[in-house]
Formats: sequence, C-alpha cells, structure tokens
Amino acid sequence: MFEQLDELYREVILDHFKHSTHAGEIAEAQVKVEGANPLCGDELVFHLQLEDGRIQRVRFHGKGCAISQAAASMLAGRLEGKTVAEAGRLIEAMKTLMQGAAPDPSVDLGDLEALAGVRKFPVRVKCAALSWNVVEQGLTDYARGSDGSGLEPAV
Ligand code: ZN
Repeated sequence: MFEQLDELYREVILDHFKHSTHAGEIAEAQVKVEGANPLCGDELVFHLQLEDGRIQRVRFHGKGCAISQAAASMLAGRLEGKTVAEAGRLIEAMKTLMQGAAPDPSVDLGDLEALAGVRKFPVRVKCAALSWNVVEQGLTDYARGSDGSGLEPAV
C-alpha cells in the first residue's frame, strides 16, 4: 500500500516535471519574483498576472531537481483563478501539510497533495517549499506596493 502510494506520487511529480503546462513567462505580469534553494541548486522565477485582485495567469521557469520544478508547476496550476487572499490560504495549507499537520480542510490542494510524500526526506521539503515561498514573497511585495505606491487599490 505504502509503496503504491509512493509510486503514484512519483508519477504525478515526474509528469509535472516533464510536461508542465505552466512553464514560460508573462511579459506584462504584475508580479515577477525569483528565489533559490542553494542546498540543492534549485532556482525559480514566477510571473503572475493579476486583475482586480485575482490571479489570472501564472507561469514559471527555472532549473533544479524534479521536486522543485514539479512543485512549481502544480502550484502555478492551483493559483490561477484565485484571489490573493485565497492564494495565501493555499500557501498556508501547503506549509501545514509539509509540517505533517492537517491542513485547512476547506482548501482544495489538488495534486499538490502528492508532495506530502516528500516529507519523509527533510532535505527535499526545501525543494518543494521553494515554489510557495517565492510566490508568497511576490504577493507580499505586490500587496505592499499597491498599499503605498499610489497605484489603484485592487477592488
Ligand atoms: Zn531540489
């Protein structure tokens, strides 16, 4: 049973790694943010296009291990269509899940749940967590910018 689950996790993760539908860039993105996990050599750049406080489109590019790139692909897919607040709840739920606790049951993690399998490998948790740490940073900077810079506030 456990081995079968691992196999499933592996397949989901490898599929995202090899065939991400969210790889790329968005020239007109409001949020462009990057980060790295030097322990493993993972690097990620996220581009988020927002409209009226909602994330319309997400693309990422980067390099690194399969876990880091697959996590970015999964997260990108989950973020599209969410408000900034909903994205924050999704990220919190992923952090909770990776700590081994039960995430907010009202948050639908989708195939991100496959990443729970890497909890057994603490070094790999940093690979997975890079994606949401980068996005969280980008959304925090974005929120700060729209508060203080005279930009139109999101409705
Ligand atoms: Zn890695």
